[in-house]
This record gives sequence, C-alpha cells and structure tokens, in this order.
Amino acid sequence: MLFPFRNEPLTDFTQAHEQTAFQRALDKVKAMLGREIPAVIDGERLWNEQGFVSINPSRPEEVLARFPKLDVSHADRAIDAAARAFKTWQHVPVEERARYLLHAAAEMRRRKHEFSAVMVLEVGKSWAEADADTAEAIDFMEYYARQAMRIADSSDLLTPFPGEQLSLYYIPLGVGVVISPWNFPNAIATGMTSAALVAGNTVCFKPAEPSSWIAAMICDLFYESGIPRGVLNFMPGKGSVIGARMVDSPQTRFIAFTGSKEVGLRIFESAGKTQPGQLWLKRTILEMGGKDAVVVDETANLEAASVAIVQSAFGFQGQKCSAGSRAIVVDNVYDQVIGRAVELTSKLTVGAPDQSHLIDQGPVVDKNSYQKIMEYIEVGTQEGKLLLGGKPLITPENGYFIPPTIFGDVAPDARIAQEEIFGPVLACIRARDFDDALNIANGTEFGLTGALFSLDRARIERARREYHVGNLYFNRKCTGAFVGVHPFGGFNMSGTDSKAGGPDYLLLFTQAKSVAERL
Ligand code: NAD
Repeated sequence: MLFPFRNEPLTDFTQAHEQTAFQRALDKVKAMLGREIPAVIDGERLWNEQGFVSINPSRPEEVLARFPKLDVSHADRAIDAAARAFKTWQHVPVEERARYLLHAAAEMRRRKHEFSAVMVLEVGKSWAEADADTAEAIDFMEYYARQAMRIADSSDLLTPFPGEQLSLYYIPLGVGVVISPWNFPNAIATGMTSAALVAGNTVCFKPAEPSSWIAAMICDLFYESGIPRGVLNFMPGKGSVIGARMVDSPQTRFIAFTGSKEVGLRIFESAGKTQPGQLWLKRTILEMGGKDAVVVDETANLEAASVAIVQSAFGFQGQKCSAGSRAIVVDNVYDQVIGRAVELTSKLTVGAPDQSHLIDQGPVVDKNSYQKIMEYIEVGTQEGKLLLGGKPLITPENGYFIPPTIFGDVAPDARIAQEEIFGPVLACIRARDFDDALNIANGTEFGLTGALFSLDRARIERARREYHVGNLYFNRKCTGAFVGVHPFGGFNMSGTDSKAGGPDYLLLFTQAKSVAERL
C-alpha cells in the first residue's frame, strides 16, 4: 500500500537553518572535486584515460570531475549488456521494480542538498533553482512508481465478452537509450531513466557532458538500491559518438531524448532507418526546444504580468525549454508593463551561486553557450532597442556571466523572436490588440509553453482553444511545471508531446498486449 502521490516540498532558504544545511552540503561536495568518475557497463566500473572533464561555469578553471574516454565499442558493449539484462528484468514484478524507485527517492530526499549543491557547482543553478530540480527528480520517482503499478494490468478497462477471459497488459519494450540535457540535469535525467526502468526496460543512459557528475550520482543511487547489473548502464561521453552509435544499434528498441531541436531531429531520422537485423520500429520520445511567450492584454493585472515576465524569462539564466523568451504586450499597456519588467530585472543579482543563496542568476553553462548567446545579443542590437544588459560581466574568475538582457520593439519575425537562444535574453513585442498578440504567440515553429495575462473571460476561453502550446498557463508564469500537476511536453518542433509527469507518460515506455482465453 502506498500513500497517494504528493509533490516534494521546496526548501525555504530565508530560514537560517536551511542556509546552514545547504552550505554544509556545498562544503561536502567541494571536498570531492577532481575525482575520476568511471562509466558503468554491465555492472563493471570502467576507467581508461581521461576523456573529458566537467567544470564549474562560474570559475571555468575549476575541474569538478573527470570522465573516461568512451568510443563506439563501449557503446556496443553497453547495448549488449542491456539486451542481456532485459531477458530477466522484464519479468521482475512491477511492485519490485517500483520499490527500486521508491528506495532511490527516499535516499535522494535524505541527501537532497548534496544533489542540489552539485548542480550549483556544475551548471550554475541558484540554490532555489537547484532545490526545485532535485524536488522534481524525487517527484518523478515517486510518481512513476505509482503509475507503473496502476497501468501494468489494465484488464478492468476492457468490455466483458461472453465466454472469454480478457486481459490487457502493458509490457516493456526492451533496450532503451536515454539521452538527457544539462539544464534540468537531475529532474529530466532521473525522470526519463526511472520511467524506462519501472516499465521493465533496461537502459543505456548518456547524460549531457556538462552535467555528467550529477548524472553519475543519479546512477549510483540506483546501483546502491541494488538494481541488477546491466539494467542501467552509465555512459558519459560525446553525443555524436556514443549517443549516435547507441541510437543506431539494431538492438535498441526505443530512445528517450530531451534536448535541442537540431539533435532531436537527427535522432528522429536515424531511428527511422531500419538497421540489418532489426526486428522492430524504434520508438522515439523526443522533447525539444521552445520559444515561449507571455502575452499581456489591457485588462490584465499589469504588476503580476511584469513579475511573471521577469520570472519566466530569467529563471536559471533563461536556460529552460519553458523560458518565456518573448513578452507580447498589447500597445496601450506595453510601455507600462515592459518598463516595470525592466525595472524588476535590473534588481536581479548576478554572480557565482555557490557564494550565497541571494544570487538570482549564475553563469550560462559553458563557453559555447556563452558565445552563442553573445552572438544573439549582437543580432538583437540590429533587431530591437536594447533596454537592459547586453554586455558580458567581467569577473576575476572569467566565469560565463551574461546579465539579464532585454530588447524592446522587436518584430515578431525577427531572429531573436523566432530562434531559441537559451540564455538570459528577452524579446519584447508590441501587439496591436489581443487578436494580434495571439497570432504572434502562435507564430513560431515551436509550441511548448505559453502564458496569457488577461481578466477577460471570452479571451481566456479563446486562448484555451487557440493558443497552440502543450502547456498553457493563465495569469501565471510559463515556467515551473509540477509533476502530476502539469504534465509537460510540447507541440510542433517542441517535440513528441510526451507529457512527462502525467498519467500517460509511462505508456510510451510500454507496448500493450491483449489476451483472450476461451473458457
Ligand atoms: P543538446 O541537444 O545539445 O544535447 C542533448 C543531449 O543529446 C546531450 O546528452 C548530448 O550529448 C546528446 N547528443 C548530441 N548529439 C547527439 C547525437 N548526434 N546523437 C545522440 N545524442 C546526441 O541539448 P542541451 O544543450 O543539452 O539542452 C538544451 C536543449 O534542451 C534546449 O534546446 C532546450 O529547450 C531543450 N530542453 C527541452 C526540454 C523539454 O522538455 N522539451 C526540457 C529541457 C531542455
């Protein structure tokens, strides 16, 4: 018997004892810096030579952890191991598989500040953002454990038929390749991995390189919970080398990917090509980018709208797929709403987040991101009016700090209003009226999240039907989905709309078997 699912509470960092506890966790993980972290294939820890390092983007000279050099032969070994392990893991009763998740969730809860502290160092999350990431990871394990037991035998959903005893089972698919991004390095990696495992699949898990340390901690949690060898293989390394090889393997049955549109499309294409010896159509679960908007009309609570614009645009330096990177405001309140958003944004503190819980904005994740975002800022100066930020912050440690940057009067079809920048850059667009604003909001290739601030019932109802996004929010920010509360996933080029954290998600990791026995 399990208690009903409840979301993990977030930490209140205004409390001195919580600050002390988090600081202690930071000190503890800092004492581990520079370790060699092996890959894990078929239960064996594998180290050869140093392949790459994970660094602290606030102080790029600081090496956090070292990882081995994996090539395609390791990728093949991991897939073989997962295929062997599937023979038995698929028959482990669902209650038992669920208990591995519940055990891992309990342990992550006990050590939650440690997991969060690693993200503060490895990807530059503020304390509050890191804490929310860990809480979401715990939620995914608790939620999917319950969902797996709910769906495993769905025979009661069938229509009775005279003389036959009917069953509907959701059985596992096989070997899954899980490929995660660095921006929710605990929540998304844990979520995709635990969903695959609890549904009875075996996994080769390849995390994004910049967040390989936290990924190793997640795997260790499962290993410590006693998960059998080969069921979960930890494969740190290059996406284009080992990731692509595992995607291509004829033994791979499905790919669960979260990341950019470019890589998602490549995986979609590769997975569609049948390899010699392949017995199935590979399933792809692909969650990709966004160019999300906060729309504000003249009836809205304008102060609440300005606050939400700032939170949506700049939480975790704008490095969220759900980030509200466009503010679309109707003309007659545009100056007031954007003026206030600029004022609020100018008060955000930027700095190395391990220094204080009061830092709102850390660095962007790495040098490539930094350069790409600075190029977009350059483009923005041609396409709009720079209202705030724009210049990189020079620090003694040469961290990748970019201050929150706002461009005003950007055209809806400008590059900074259409392309995912994935950094602290907000494009503000002036709309003639609500109709125009809704059109602009829908006018990108993406369709992940969107918000509308309005007190007009008819407009809210219209947006409910016509605002074409997977996650729509009224009179609140467009980030911050909770597991079980706001099932998450997007339309169009934002992905396959898998609705992570929702009641249908696990079905994607299974196939349904219908059985009828004549009595
Ligand atoms: P990315 O696409 O660069 O990398 C994602 C993963 O793919 C990494 O593990 C990477 O190593 C791997 N990879 C790269 N090339 C590969 C290849 N050829 N074959 C197989 N794997 C390969 O994305 P990122 O920079 O890590 O993450 C940021 C992106 O993720 C943004 O676009 C963001 O919007 C998106 N994202 C989407 C969601 C969502 O739920 N829709 C959530 C978080 C992030």
